[in-house]
Amino acid sequence: MLKYKHILLATDFSEGTVHVINEAHALAKQMGAKFSLLHVVEPLPGYGYAFIGSAEIELQLIDESKKQLAKLGKKHSVAKKNQFVEIGPPKAEITRVAEEKGVDLIVVGSHGRHGFVENLLGSTANAVVHHAKCDVLTVKINGVVEKE
Ligand code: AMP
Repeated sequence: MLKYKHILLATDFSEGTVHVINEAHALAKQMGAKFSLLHVVEPLPGYGYAFIGSAEIELQLIDESKKQLAKLGKKHSVAKKNQFVEIGPPKAEITRVAEEKGVDLIVVGSHGRHGFVENLLGSTANAVVHHAKCDVLTVKINGVVEKE
């Protein structure tokens, strides 16, 4: 039987998150695995934010993401040191963090903010499945949204 030691849940905080995180947490508990959370802030395009300062906005996004992740962490008993917020392209950051932290299973939703197209995987989910060095579980999001 497959047995994982460190499960990383990547979330974009979209509507299906609650279902995906519940499934991932249940799996981690069942396997006695370490459970970590990751959100990746997507860098803003360099233009259009010149007047406000894109660096400042990114810092605000990081701060806001940390708060949102902390809320999920509290609900699912994930220690602060296992809550990660990174900035960059999500697909690359998810696989990088997984390698760096010795993760052996990445859990993502089948779809996220980038939309739902029939039975196709979302672009982030698809890239993570193809590029991760460890196993990847895509939890199906069928438009059914669980509320907290
Ligand atoms: P997508 O393929 O972009 O529609 O998203 C599919 C799944 O990838 C989401 O349900 C999340 O689990 C994960 N994901 C997408 N974007 C991010 C992000 N910025 N940070 C962390 N996880 C993400």
